[in-house]
Amino acid sequence: MLVDAHAHLDDSSLASFSDVLALSDVDLVVISNSVDSLSSTRNLELAKRSDRIIPFVGIHPGIFRENADDTNLRKPAIEPMIEEVRNLAYAALGIGEIGIDPKYGSVEKQEQLFLSMLSLCEKTTLPITIHSRDSVSKILQILPTFDLKGKVLFHWFAGSESELAAINDRGIFVSYGPAILVSKRLCTLVEKTPLDLILSETDSPTPFSLLNHATSTPFLIASAAFKISLIKEMKLDSLEEFICENTMRYLGTQNSLRVKSK
Ligand SMILES: [Zn+2]
Repeated sequence: MLVDAHAHLDDSSLASFSDVLALSDVDLVVISNSVDSLSSTRNLELAKRSDRIIPFVGIHPGIFRENADDTNLRKPAIEPMIEEVRNLAYAALGIGEIGIDPKYGSVEKQEQLFLSMLSLCEKTTLPITIHSRDSVSKILQILPTFDLKGKVLFHWFAGSESELAAINDRGIFVSYGPAILVSKRLCTLVEKTPLDLILSETDSPTPFSLLNHATSTPFLIASAAFKISLIKEMKLDSLEEFICENTMRYLGTQNSLRVKSK
């Protein structure tokens, strides 16, 4: 079974993919992350269509970016939205995508939001997916100030080797996406990541250079998994098994049955 540990199935561009996942018996599980309260609601709805869609709720740090197309994102009523996501969290299987990214403007505002989301993680004990571009060390300082019972994933990890070591020393998972098909630096990170802390992802529908910048879908996960198996010098089957086991540990025992049943 293949696992896409990080995608955004609520995005309208992936509507037909979600139909395929819900209506066919393709052997793929997708963790669908949210970016705001509307997206969180959509992901919870999608998950009702298929056990292979694992819904995470949360508010993405990109909500503060200045040139956001969406009016709601430009002027987020952040407190009511946090409250809404708090209410939705009890039906979710994880919290994400949350984090900090200096590219999205005010780091202070993002940090406040991140702290609110982490207190939700503390309360719910759910697994967490973190966006950590250019903010790994800051996030590593913040995390121990919470009593987090859920496992943590730094998705699309692209930091330094020393940051990777600091992350893995704490038993935190990292996931790699199709960018490993084109980046030698990322391949070195994959090589250095312990096998029991590695997950695969696509971050769909993020456009991908190898697809001539067309929208990606979680089907791209097969390429990412194959590349990881080459780097780890393993057969694809064994790698898939490892990633499946890792995903179940990441999601927690309660959720593992949901994944296992497919
Ligand atoms: Zn994402």
